[in-house]
Amino acid sequence: MSEFDLIGRYFAALGPERPDVALGVGDDCALLEIPAGQALAVSIDTLSAGVHFFPDCDPEHIGHKSLAVGLSDLAAMGAEPAWATLALTLPAADEDWIRAFATGFERLASAHGMRLVGGDTTRGPLSVAVQVHGLVPTGAAIRRSGARPGDAVFVSGTLGDAGLALRRMLAGESVAPELRRRLECPEPRVELGQRLRGVASAMIDLSDGLAGDLGHILRASAVGAVLELDRLPLAHQVADVVAATDDWSLPLASGDDYELCFCVPPAHIPNVERLAEALGLPLTRVGWIRASAGLDLRRPDGGRLTQPARGYDHFPVADDRAD
Ligand code: ADP
Ligand code: MG
Repeated sequence: MSEFDLIGRYFAALGPERPDVALGVGDDCALLEIPAGQALAVSIDTLSAGVHFFPDCDPEHIGHKSLAVGLSDLAAMGAEPAWATLALTLPAADEDWIRAFATGFERLASAHGMRLVGGDTTRGPLSVAVQVHGLVPTGAAIRRSGARPGDAVFVSGTLGDAGLALRRMLAGESVAPELRRRLECPEPRVELGQRLRGVASAMIDLSDGLAGDLGHILRASAVGAVLELDRLPLAHQVADVVAATDDWSLPLASGDDYELCFCVPPAHIPNVERLAEALGLPLTRVGWIRASAGLDLRRPDGGRLTQPARGYDHFPVADDRAD
């Protein structure tokens, strides 16, 4: 199968047709029409074999996850998904692999009304880069920089599930299917993100662990925060590990949660409670924003957790940074 056959068969008509796509896959560029009054939200992520997924991972899950991580970024801005481009680097034109990859990608794209409008296909070590494009009304995007002292800090879903699945897989242990799904097939919180427009003052998606990712909000907003550890929403498997070891790195510093962390002025807290009910998704208040810098990790007995809880860094520096 040639490169062009492959593109034509699996990627030329992926996702629903959209009236704002004047020209999709097949020319030198896609032509996209941005509606008046909307800003374009753009983000790109690369998943590399051996770094972001096991090389023998189910290709359907790789297709799903490579789009899910971008959708999670759109969610974190309050943007509505619109278009994607895909740069696929493959060691070989293995049609079974490509078909399964496209199936996983397509299912998630269609669920969010997103159309694949272009890409690039090359030979090399397995790697997938997906650029996502979303729309958000001008001025309505939720940035990291809007948190203010007194805001409540919320997280969606549960924390550390994917981290626990990864830890167990690396140790060669068995992993419960629901935990493994959290690692390989995360569900980006796209609707939640959009419905937090006008409610949340700041937001980020959790890809590197709550402590590090909330730290990005704190720096961008020039504030600090208190987290109450006993409020962290944990699945029972993660809660068991924390209870047995007093090691909080799963919920605070493991990657791939793809939940949203957001700050809410007190007046808007009832809206969040209503939203949790409407979406059938736990939205848990885990702490609050304060004026003085730093992240205070508070134990139930009032003591502070001092263990380092830093997110994943592909290029860690040898010396300890002050954050
Ligand atoms: P060019 O050489 O002009 O960059 P290509 O030969 O790389 O074009 O690609 C031909 C067409 O197929 C382009 O419209 C491109 O966007 C699209 N395309 C290539 N690879 C992919 C892919 N993996 N997914 C979606 N579209 C793709
Ligand atoms: Mg090209």
